[in-house]
Amino acid sequence: MTRTQCCIVGGGPAGAMLGLLLARKGLDVVVLEKNGDFLRDFRGDTIHPSTMESLDELDLAERFLELKPALTPVFSGRTPAGAVTLADFRELRTRFPYIAMIPQWDFLNFLTCEATRYPGFHLLMNAEATELIEEDGVVRGVRVRSADGEDEIRAPLTVAADGRSSRLRDRAGLSLAASSPPIDVLWFRLPHGPDEPIGTTGFAGDGRVIVYIDRRDYWQVAYVIPKGSADALRRAGIDQLRDVLARVAPDVGGGGAALRSWDQVSVLTVRADRLRRWHRPGLLCIGYAAHAMSPVGGVGINFAIQDAVAAANLLAEPIRSGHVSDRQLAAVQRQRAWQVRAMQLIQAGALRLAVRASATPRRGPGALLAGVLGRLFGLGPARRLRARAVGLGIRRVHVA
Ligand SMILES: Cc1cc2nc3c(=O)[nH]c(=O)nc-3n(C[C@H](O)[C@H](O)[C@H](O)COP(=O)(O)OP(=O)(O)OC[C@H]3O[C@@H](n4cnc5c(N)ncnc54)[C@H](O)[C@@H]3O)c2cc1C
Repeated sequence: MTRTQCCIVGGGPAGAMLGLLLARKGLDVVVLEKNGDFLRDFRGDTIHPSTMESLDELDLAERFLELKPALTPVFSGRTPAGAVTLADFRELRTRFPYIAMIPQWDFLNFLTCEATRYPGFHLLMNAEATELIEEDGVVRGVRVRSADGEDEIRAPLTVAADGRSSRLRDRAGLSLAASSPPIDVLWFRLPHGPDEPIGTTGFAGDGRVIVYIDRRDYWQVAYVIPKGSADALRRAGIDQLRDVLARVAPDVGGGGAALRSWDQVSVLTVRADRLRRWHRPGLLCIGYAAHAMSPVGGVGINFAIQDAVAAANLLAEPIRSGHVSDRQLAAVQRQRAWQVRAMQLIQAGALRLAVRASATPRRGPGALLAGVLGRLFGLGPARRLRARAVGLGIRRVHVA
């Protein structure tokens, strides 16, 4: 049996950041990650100004920038009516007016490497939490399976940062309010030709929304489809998908010519949900374990990081004292839950608009209305609001 002051399950952005923050405050923490590395394709790439500010408050921003993320000050898209600016981060009052694009595995390696500078930080890879340990209705830790066999990790506080299919959340019996955004995403890679544009770009047209994420050597493509339509697309054949790419984005990713088989394409089921209650005595859920966000605006990593910052600010001293009360856990939820809910509502509205815009007729009253909405969308205040919400979240969170 291992004893620690805080046991964090999950080495994603939420768990890795919380581990770093608590270890920096001199606490002993164990972070469990069930995989042997962070190299998973299905992860986001966007480090927003809010996360950059948190890194800066930890004196880590300069070192992070040495990893040479692709700095994207403006996120723009192309529609049949022309180019649109989705968010211009140069308008924000921040030292980091851009999105830093970096594969998430590099970001997680960075966070955990920095955390190992602190003697209290222990990251166990290939270590899967299998069960909660409960005594008298209080969570006292978890059972763990690793290459060394079975173990128990006991702590006054266990944090479930184990992602959107959180096992700990289920074991704790915490209930979810789920909504189902009307989209799924096809996720595949295309080669990045030497003469092609640089930088992440979105395309809306022909009833479709497609985002090309620039990962330098290749494009990671997120192709938004109506929920549940993947099987019908598959039946229609890969040629049809290739034709759409060639039509909507002919100058990017070789127009999709490298797409030969459905084996190259993964289907991601988009979900948005949130826990009604983020905690039980001895247990707190954060990040995607507490709330899965839709992909709109790419805010998932950054909301997970903000949860970790809020949790560390509010709980470090109670953890040090050896007792974390339910009231203190509730304070974390109180600080974060309304912001999550607000962002989920913004995401749902933006998604509806994007789907409608992408299906806009070229003539008639529909086109006129789309033109007016497009104008409003492009006005300064709307542009600034978008950049603010996406870049910095609803309310800034600072590392204490
Ligand atoms: C394809 C895709 C693209 C995305 N793009 C973006 C984007 O561009 N920008 C953005 O901000 N967000 C994006 N996201 C969302 C982003 O990846 C998530 O918001 C973020 O990873 C959530 O962080 P988290 O730490 O809460 O959970 P996760 O990142 O899911 O981390 C949970 C971790 O817990 C581990 N784990 C699970 N169960 C156990 C267990 N029992 N024991 C031990 N370990 C366990 C998992 O292996 C995982 O490493 C994307 C997501 C997907 C799927």
